[in-house]
Amino acid sequence: MERYSLHKVIGEGSFGRALLVRCKSTQEKYVVKEIQLPKNKSKLENSRREAVLLSRMKHPNIVAFREAFEADDLLCIVMEYCSGGDLLQRIRQQKTTQFCVDDVLRWFAQMCAAAKYIHDKRVLHRDLKSKNIFLTDNGTIKLGDFGSACVLNSSKAYAHAYVGTPYYVAPEIWDNKPYNNKSDVWSLGCVLYELCTLRHPFQASSWKSLILKVCRGAYPPLPNYLPYELQYLVKQMFKTNPKDRPSLHTILTCHRVSKLLRTHL
Ligand code: ADP
Ligand code: MG
Repeated sequence: MERYSLHKVIGEGSFGRALLVRCKSTQEKYVVKEIQLPKNKSKLENSRREAVLLSRMKHPNIVAFREAFEADDLLCIVMEYCSGGDLLQRIRQQKTTQFCVDDVLRWFAQMCAAAKYIHDKRVLHRDLKSKNIFLTDNGTIKLGDFGSACVLNSSKAYAHAYVGTPYYVAPEIWDNKPYNNKSDVWSLGCVLYELCTLRHPFQASSWKSLILKVCRGAYPPLPNYLPYELQYLVKQMFKTNPKDRPSLHTILTCHRVSKLLRTHL
């Protein structure tokens, strides 16, 4: 950490902290995510996975990895700083004014490009939500937080108890079925809906009724002024059977909405 000077704390979670720092030699800003390493050796590999997976991702819409190092019982992941903050903050700033459709399409197209890239590498993100999607100063989307990500087909893919926010969780997960690439598609559908309405598609006053709504795929309809292709896409992404949901490849290349998205990429 001697090479960086602390600017401020920008995020605090169960993992540890996200710090905004400045590199002493280049003066460039970065984010350092500090993760408390467990004493238990078998859990150590889990904690290190986030750094390993992020270091393998090189895409214009994924937070760029710079380096990772361990100091005492902390793992520090140094990455690109996204000065536009996260998408949840951005949504809350809107209060009640809706985003314009062009912004929604542009952001969503970029998220899909990032998610398709990771799926093509056989990695699942498993925690796609507006709080884990960041914006740069020029409004480019950067997918971040690979803390729940895993490699597809590894036995560990299934051994991950769910701990995050429940709004984005696909019905098959509540049904104790394995997480798959289409579960990420469901979560992205939730983010798309949030961008279109500033609300979660599935909301309830108790866990039980939330899970019921998710498992029925029952959400309030989107406003009519949105392009019909977008309304159709949301419907497809919220199919309760994962097999009926489009893959990211389909969404970006051979879906009714693809042309619309491509003009916004
Ligand atoms: P956690 O595992 O606790 O969810 P995250 O990696 O999502 O950790 O970071 C927590 C919060 O810190 C994010 O929601 C975001 O607001 C902020 N943050 C993290 N990384 C960055 C970054 N590279 N640029 C800007 N903000 C970031
Ligand atoms: Mg997060």
